[in-house]
Amino acid sequence: MKITAAVSRANQDAPSLETLELEAPRAGEMLVRIVAVGICHTDVHEHPGRHAPHPIVLGHEGAGVVEALGEGVRGFAVGDHVILSGSSCGACPSCLAGRPTYCDLAMPLSFGGKRLDGSVALSCGEERIHSHFFGQSSFATHAIVPERTAVKVDKDLPLEKLAPLGCGVITGAGGVIEALKVKAGDTIAVLGVGGVGLSAIMAARLVGARRIVAVDINRARLDLALELGATDVVAADEPDVAQKIRAVTGRGVDYTFNTTTVPAVHTIALEALAMNGTAGFVAAPRGEWAPAMFPMLAGGRQLRGILGGDANPRTFLPMLIDQWRQGRFPFDRLIETYSFEEIGKAFHDCEAGTVIKPVLKVGDAA
Ligand SMILES: [Zn+2]
Ligand SMILES: [Zn+2]
Repeated sequence: MKITAAVSRANQDAPSLETLELEAPRAGEMLVRIVAVGICHTDVHEHPGRHAPHPIVLGHEGAGVVEALGEGVRGFAVGDHVILSGSSCGACPSCLAGRPTYCDLAMPLSFGGKRLDGSVALSCGEERIHSHFFGQSSFATHAIVPERTAVKVDKDLPLEKLAPLGCGVITGAGGVIEALKVKAGDTIAVLGVGGVGLSAIMAARLVGARRIVAVDINRARLDLALELGATDVVAADEPDVAQKIRAVTGRGVDYTFNTTTVPAVHTIALEALAMNGTAGFVAAPRGEWAPAMFPMLAGGRQLRGILGGDANPRTFLPMLIDQWRQGRFPFDRLIETYSFEEIGKAFHDCEAGTVIKPVLKVGDAA
């Protein structure tokens, strides 16, 4: 079928809309009509072709309606509303243990730009266009999606609000609840309060953290962090950031959650920890960085990488949606909506940091 998709090609500063051919779903896949899709920093980073091959359709925070089922799909019916999250094999030890973000095949399934057998779902005339980005390639009116990528949601829910749950929100909220297992009475500092960091702050409030310190250079985001649950803020461009975080409790925080790639912030995240604290991080430091090992040894501290919030989307996302319905997890406060045609502007705004979570409205739910 003919679809419209935003294609990332070499030497273009943003994806641009093209008419492509999308093949029918193969065994275990579904055709999903995309209603809305969020833009995540990983899309912005991958657009120039960092890990994923060109030309490719990116997009990995899709939400839409199931239009057709490939052979063997069991858990879905035509007309189901779905949000899309990461892709995983379903058969490796991590998947079998309910930890699909650490699937043995996560890298090729997320960034390979094709199915594991090498085939792609998209073409433009004779030209092969890479698909299946995070099992989605959802910067498009339609996507071919492996069944495991989709999470069914109630039809009364607004799909354009739910789109960012599948990556940005689950990364922050899962990081706090599933990976770090922050509980009532604990203390945490969140370093970098964009979409992921603010989701972490809302989750920390949800579980009853005693002190929640937001750290950023952007004053408007620090103000929003206070509204969404932070108890304290520290401006990251002023001196003595680690000491200021430590001073909130007098002995450092139990957890830090670092969403940035700035090496100096990774150092602060360790220095701010109390004894036996854990520094969780969701992005690697860009450039040379090494942790100071003696304070980790002497304080029994840990450094912990976290992908996709450690969360199983099939169980975690319905929980978050219930919390949102009950007014306890207002993640939709982060969203700014753009039309599909405005994808270039949305990319630039995301990169410039003038918007927290851009969501492209691609179609209607009905
Ligand atoms: Zn993402
Ligand atoms: Zn797996």
